[in-house]
Amino acid sequence: MQIPVGVSARHVHLSQEHLTALFGAGARLHPKKPLSQPGQFASEEKVDVRGPRGTIQNVRVLGPVRPETQLEISKTDALKLGLQPPVRESGRLEQTPGITVIGPQGQVTLTQGVIVAKRHVHFSPEDARRYGVRDGQSLTLRTTGERGLIFENVTARVSPKYKLDFHLDTDEANAAGLQSGDEAEMIELEGLKAQPMPHFHGNEIIRDDSSPQHEKTTESVG
Ligand SMILES: [Zn+2]
Repeated sequence: MQIPVGVSARHVHLSQEHLTALFGAGARLHPKKPLSQPGQFASEEKVDVRGPRGTIQNVRVLGPVRPETQLEISKTDALKLGLQPPVRESGRLEQTPGITVIGPQGQVTLTQGVIVAKRHVHFSPEDARRYGVRDGQSLTLRTTGERGLIFENVTARVSPKYKLDFHLDTDEANAAGLQSGDEAEMIELEGLKAQPMPHFHGNEIIRDDSSPQHEKTTESVG
């Protein structure tokens, strides 16, 4: 039940309208690096964001463009900017604070769109079946190591467009000593102990738990 970890640094998604306002007429995003989710990419483009208490420079723009502009930051970033954004799922922007976004060719003052992204796991439908998970369910994941932690309230997101990845922000990753590529174990699903899909090896005798193969497939990893 191990799931790869993907740490999301602060970033912004732009609408085409705002991309044009910030980078000039005819602007488009230039992919720099693909992200874990198919089709998503970090672009070459960066912006500054200015809140009531401070500015953060060189915030990466992720692509492709979206219907609505959305800035995703950590709680630490929010303190620096002087904002109190809620913890939200991506795209749920009602009653979120705004901010001023500054590009090389102009600036835009948003009336809403700043969130602290709610931690989540992306599942393909195949992975969701394997883990016994449905879209929107609440998961608990555990990490190991020197700063091992248990993460409650992790939302499962299932789509054919997704690839298995546990997304958390830099505050959460730092608190747990995690880096992208580390792994977390799903230990609960909707408050119940997560069960690996049962393994049946034909006529296997239940008591025969001494074979190395059996141990390997059923023992949970500490
Ligand atoms: Zn994500």
